[in-house]
Amino acid sequence: MPSFIEEPVSTPSVFWFRRDLRLADNPALTAAARVGSVVALFVVDPELAAPVGPTRAAFLAASLEALNDSIGGRLVVRVGSPVSIVPEIAREVGARDVFATGDATPRARDRDRRVSEALATVGCTLRTIDSPYLVEPGSVRQASGAPYRVYGAYRRVWETRLGATPLDAPVVDWVGLEGLTPAALVAAAAHRRPTYFTDLPDGPAPSPPVAGELAATRALERFIPLVDQYQEHRDQPGLDATSRLSPYLHVGALHPRTVLAAIDGPSAGRTVFRSELGWREFYADVLWHRPDSSWQPLQTRFAALRVDRDAGAVARFRAWALGETGFALVDAGMRQLLHEGWMHNRVRMVTASFLVKHLHVDWRWGASWFLWRLVDGDVASNQHGWQWTAGSGTDAAPFHRVFNPLRQAERFDPSGTYIRRYVPELASVDEAQLTRLDARTLATSGYRAPIVDAAAERREALARFAEIRQSVIS
Ligand SMILES: Cc1cc2nc3c(=O)[nH]c(=O)nc-3n(C[C@H](O)[C@H](O)[C@H](O)COP(=O)(O)OP(=O)(O)OC[C@H]3O[C@@H](n4cnc5c(N)ncnc54)[C@H](O)[C@@H]3O)c2cc1C
Repeated sequence: MPSFIEEPVSTPSVFWFRRDLRLADNPALTAAARVGSVVALFVVDPELAAPVGPTRAAFLAASLEALNDSIGGRLVVRVGSPVSIVPEIAREVGARDVFATGDATPRARDRDRRVSEALATVGCTLRTIDSPYLVEPGSVRQASGAPYRVYGAYRRVWETRLGATPLDAPVVDWVGLEGLTPAALVAAAAHRRPTYFTDLPDGPAPSPPVAGELAATRALERFIPLVDQYQEHRDQPGLDATSRLSPYLHVGALHPRTVLAAIDGPSAGRTVFRSELGWREFYADVLWHRPDSSWQPLQTRFAALRVDRDAGAVARFRAWALGETGFALVDAGMRQLLHEGWMHNRVRMVTASFLVKHLHVDWRWGASWFLWRLVDGDVASNQHGWQWTAGSGTDAAPFHRVFNPLRQAERFDPSGTYIRRYVPELASVDEAQLTRLDARTLATSGYRAPIVDAAAERREALARFAEIRQSVIS
C-alpha cells in the first residue's frame, strides 16, 4: 500500500488531472489549492487508452513527466478504472473533495457520472470546474435550444462569449504518495490495433514535439510574431507558419484562454486564427450533441456510400499510411505523420481526401490511423475533420469537389519545400517537375510510380457518389 511521504497538515483534497496537464490558468486547480493541501492524481484508464497508439501514449507520458517535474515529483499515476481508483485514493487520504476540469466527450461524461456515484459512497464529492474549451461544449444554442448545425452560425454566438482572463498558476501545497513513474505506467496500457493496420509501424514517432507546459509556452511565443501573417501563410505547409499548438491544447498543457489572450488584436491574421480555435470548439460541441458522430456519418445517408474493404483496399491503405502512393504531397504528409506524429492542416485535408476519394477506403480507417499516430489525436477534431473531407460532416466540402493532389501541391507548396523535406527521393527534382512527375523523372529520381490513375479514380468516386446522391439531396 502506498504511504505518505509528507505529513499533511489537514485532510487534503485530490486534484484529478485529465485533459489539463498544466498549472497556469487552471481554474479547477486554483479552486483545489484554496481549500488546502492537494494530492495530484492521473489515472491511465485502459478503456480510453486502447485506441491510443504508441506515439500519442509517448507524448502523454512525456507531458506527465513534465508535469511531475513541475510539482516536485508528487504526481501519483495509477492504471485502472477511475471508477475504482479515484475513490480509493480519496479514501486513502481522507479527501472530501476531488477537483477536476470538466471533460465533455461522450465517454468522459459517462465516466464522470460513474466516478461521482462511486465517490459519494466514500463521502466525497467530484467537483468539476471549467473545461478544455473557451466555451463549454453543449452551451451555445439557438433560441429554441437546438444546437447550431453549421460553423458560421455557431461562431457568431460563440464569439460573444469570449474574453475571460487567464489565471496565474496557484501556489499549491502538494501532498506526495508513493507511486510508479508516469512513463512506466503509460507504457503498461495495452493498445488495441485494428487488423487493417497489418504490419504498419508500431513504435512512437522518432521526432515528436517536446512535451510539457514550458514547451507549450515556448510554442506560443514562437507563434506570436507570425500571427499577423497567419491568414496568408497558414495554407502553405513549407512555411511552418501555423502555431503547432494542437498537441498542447489536446493534453491541456495550455488552455485556449491563454492563447486567445496572447494573440488578442484586430489584424486579419488574428481574426482568422481565432476562428480556427473556434473550429475546435464547434467540433467538440457537435460531438456533445451527437456522440454517435465519432464513428457514424453525421449525414446518415452517407452510410450507403460504397467503400472498399477487400485485400486491395488493405494494400492501398498500407501504401497511403507509409507515404508510398507516388503522389508527392500525399506521401510527404503521411511521412511527416510517421516521423513527427503531426501533420499540417492543408496536408491532412489532401491526404484524407486522397484515401477516401482516390483509394475508395472507408474514412474510419484513415481516422483510426490518424488517431493512432497523431500526438494531437482528438476524437472531436479528427473525426469531424475526416467527415468534412469525406462529405458526410457539418459544413462538408461537397463530395463532388475532389482535391487533385498534384494541383494542391502546385498551389500550396509551389516551391516544393515541404515535399522535398519529407520525400528525399525528390530532393533534387526541380519545382516545375515536382507537380507533374513524368515517367522519365520518376525513373531517374528513384521515387515510386503512382499507385492509381488519379483521373480514373476521381470518376469512380463520382460514380459511387451518384448512387447515393438522390437520397442525399432528397
Ligand atoms: C482529416 C483531419 C484530421 C484532423 N485531426 C485533428 C486532430 O486529431 N486533432 C486536432 O487538434 N486537430 C485535427 N485536425 C484539425 C487541424 O488539422 C489541426 O488542428 C491543425 O493542423 C493543428 O496545427 P496547428 O496547431 O499548427 O494549427 P493552427 O493553424 O495554428 O490553428 C490553431 C488551433 O486551432 C485549432 N484548429 C485549427 N484548425 C482546425 C480544424 N480544422 N479543426 C479543429 N480545430 C482546428 C487547433 O486546436 C489548432 O491548434 C484535423 C483536420 C483534418 C482535415
